[in-house]
Amino acid sequence: MARTRVTTPRTGRRPLIAGNWKMHMTHLEAIGLTQKVVFSLTEQDLDVAEVVVLPPFTALRSVQTLVTGDKLAIGYGAQDLSMHDAGAYTGEISGGMLAALACAYVVVGHSERRALHGEDDDVVAAKVRAALRHDLVPILCVGEGLEVRRDQGHVVHCCTQLDAALEGLSAEQVRGTGAGAGGGLVIAYEPVWAIGTGEVATPDDAQEVCAALRSRLAERFGPETAEVVRILYGGSVKAANTAGILAGPDIDGALVGGASLDADEFAQICRIAADVG
Ligand code: PEP
Repeated sequence: MARTRVTTPRTGRRPLIAGNWKMHMTHLEAIGLTQKVVFSLTEQDLDVAEVVVLPPFTALRSVQTLVTGDKLAIGYGAQDLSMHDAGAYTGEISGGMLAALACAYVVVGHSERRALHGEDDDVVAAKVRAALRHDLVPILCVGEGLEVRRDQGHVVHCCTQLDAALEGLSAEQVRGTGAGAGGGLVIAYEPVWAIGTGEVATPDDAQEVCAALRSRLAERFGPETAEVVRILYGGSVKAANTAGILAGPDIDGALVGGASLDADEFAQICRIAADVG
């Protein structure tokens, strides 16, 4: 397993491509997809770009067994967690349970959770804290809906979501031990109107918001922290639009939904990220 490269000369931040499988893939299908992705990539690709899969809870143990048993150079994590650590919360999964499966990452505040499960900024902030308590790296999603974008409120909207989610955290909590290494947070800018719609943000639109988020991190936590936090774009990323999106100097990778279910397409996105990196 090659896990030596933690930063890139381009930005000092290691590109990260994370595949959000949403509610797809049984545990058996998850094994097949993970294997196919890894075997489609070279050691060099997996060294330069960090590749992560985010299966449903029911597939995590199988993915863990595969990744650790075969020493695969791919990371994995969950799509959500409870804000609580234990107790009478039927159906919930705690950060401790995910940590026990050696998950590295957990998505927090995905727009589908916000819209379909009523997660507001307070819930998202509590989940960020829960993840950090268990040494999981939250992939914190922020993003505006179509109305807000039409009214040109997207930058303010995303920075407000960021502020709310990071309220009360220290710079050390936000940056961890540095890009591509342990701890800290990853931010994902995911315009709601681009998720699963095929309508991708233009590279300039994506860069505008990612740059604003980095500036906001700098204001709140200092430039050293803002420089190491990775900011991803998500929303209808495909191999055909990856290079354009990743050219943005503040965009350090992608959170990929639909295209991550196709091993060849996802591997191609990872290869492009490795080339850009
Ligand atoms: C997502 O679910 O985070 C996502 C970005 O989905 P898609 O790539 O399908 O738009």
